[in-house]
Amino acid sequence: MSDQTVRERFWELPLADLTSKEWELLCDGCARCCLKKLQDEDAARLVYTRVVCRYLDQQKCSCTAYRRRNELVPDCLVLDMSVLQASVDWIPDTCAYKLRYQNQPLPAWHPLLSGSRDHMQAQGIAVTGRVISEDYVHDDGLEEHVIRWVRA
Ligand code: SF4
Repeated sequence: MSDQTVRERFWELPLADLTSKEWELLCDGCARCCLKKLQDEDAARLVYTRVVCRYLDQQKCSCTAYRRRNELVPDCLVLDMSVLQASVDWIPDTCAYKLRYQNQPLPAWHPLLSGSRDHMQAQGIAVTGRVISEDYVHDDGLEEHVIRWVRA
């Protein structure tokens, strides 16, 4: 089996069995993982803000610097099995990788099931139209942008 193999209903297979291509296709493209997070000291957990990475194309929910993202943003999350295991506690609860890691099915709005991004857009899963670039927010002002619509 080649790394580029894509099997029927591959998203129901264990994550560890996916080919590279299947792993890549599992991403719903919501860009919630591109949001800035803050440590909530009272609750001892991370909270999400609506401030998003400057390299995100907010309309397409895609990275404009994908090949150079680690160089430009050293803490950018490049998910593989080991990163997922280490980060699962703070990855958004709608994330396809987190859901499958926890042996849960993909939601009906996921583009692999619904056939398009329309449902996830309608349900506000994608960040388009709900975020502001980090270029316009000082680090000290992040707290003003904490949101509740993304949770880990
Ligand atoms: S949160 Fe998960 S599903 Fe959404 S863009 Fe990030 S990696 Fe992909």
